[in-house]
Amino acid sequence: MDRKEKLLELIKEGYNNVKALSQYFGVSLMTIYRDVRELEKEGKLIRKHGEIKLRTPEDTKEEGKDTCAYCTKLLDKRLEFIYYLKDRKIKACCAHCGLLLYKQI
Ligand SMILES: [Zn+2]
Repeated sequence: MDRKEKLLELIKEGYNNVKALSQYFGVSLMTIYRDVRELEKEGKLIRKHGEIKLRTPEDTKEEGKDTCAYCTKLLDKRLEFIYYLKDRKIKACCAHCGLLLYKQI
């Protein structure tokens, strides 16, 4: 398991600050900040009031961003996959989710 995966697991368990995480891994604060920033960019974490937490679909909705209708990941404009139905649009993050969604609609 790489450090970022482990980070996500620890955050799920309740670790919510960079200092505690850097102590856990025995690495510098900068290293953890870098991982956290990357995970944030990937849409897996958010930072709020100095705390780190896992991103939930509710957080994403609050920010008004679009998520994949299949896996709830943040949409990447370059890869998104959109179905235009009569009454609504359904968006998926990638062709893979798009095809899985197709079975449901
Ligand atoms: Zn997806």
